[in-house]
Amino acid sequence: MRAAIFERFGGPIAVERVDDPTCPDDGVIVQVRANGVCRSDWHGWLGHDPAIRLPHVPGHEVAGTIVEAGRDCIRWRPGERVTVPFILGCGSCPACRDGQHQICHDQRQPGFSTWGAFAEYVAVERADSNLIALPESLDFAAAASLGCRFTTAYRAVIERGRLQAGEWLAVHGCGGVGLSAIMIARAAGAAIAAVDIDADALALARTLGASAVIDASAAADPAEAVHEATGGGAHVAVDALGHRITAGNSIRSLRRQGRHVQAGLLTGDDAEPPLPMESVVGHELEILGTHGMAAHRFPALLAMIADGRLAPQQLIRRRIGLEEVPATLMELGEQQHAGITVMELA
Ligand SMILES: [Zn+2]
Ligand SMILES: [Zn+2]
Repeated sequence: MRAAIFERFGGPIAVERVDDPTCPDDGVIVQVRANGVCRSDWHGWLGHDPAIRLPHVPGHEVAGTIVEAGRDCIRWRPGERVTVPFILGCGSCPACRDGQHQICHDQRQPGFSTWGAFAEYVAVERADSNLIALPESLDFAAAASLGCRFTTAYRAVIERGRLQAGEWLAVHGCGGVGLSAIMIARAAGAAIAAVDIDADALALARTLGASAVIDASAAADPAEAVHEATGGGAHVAVDALGHRITAGNSIRSLRRQGRHVQAGLLTGDDAEPPLPMESVVGHELEILGTHGMAAHRFPALLAMIADGRLAPQQLIRRRIGLEEVPATLMELGEQQHAGITVMELA
């Protein structure tokens, strides 16, 4: 098969012929029809994820069709259209038994711990615990945006942040997760203040439902600007980017007893950011993490799509082929395209 592969961290990524994946006994082989381009792939390419072994094929936002099922796979058969969360739970540890596969004690992540889906085929282990059947009405490209961006946003805003109708959500960083959070918050009946430094991202945020947009490059203090726009601070704030500045701004943009959700990965120099803990104590703020979503939680999100409250395809701004993946991935650190880029294969 053909795959986008790199042999050293930060080195060239090339589309090459590699061996087809072998089907895991407990898993399936998926013929990749769409795979989202995500900032986490860029982190992986730079060596920020200790799970990656070289050479490596990235890609963790896959949608496609099963072409082979392993002998121990009970629930899935060739021909079924599926997607998968970016974390595969084992199904048997204490977290998985509790239904919390996203914090499994023994996680696998296609695109990180195993080869991913910037390829014609991808092996997905642990299929019975982790695959999700796609409704016929949901196309592959839209489905590919669910497994990472939309599920992360849904888990962050609805399940972790407990955002209610009529409350204010502040979104710091309007990339894929941030824009997904805006769409989900709007579907939930909340008001949204969106913060970014990119004019295109802010314009898209407004189109998707943000009633206040704040240009962080122009505002003297973006957190203070959120307080002004929301009449006293956000009830829930999400750092959707993952940066020491946005993490701090998100916490400082909260009203008393507000909930901060850290959705963006903080790595390298940002791994241990200085945070306004005085306000966390004095204002009884909550600081919450979020790490994907278990397969069995997908139906609530799919229901929002089925009844028209959410349209994930609105976020797709670029569609590319496999040949364009290397350049697109390598420039992700420098260039932020508003909206989601999806690789599609015929
Ligand atoms: Zn992702
Ligand atoms: Zn587990």
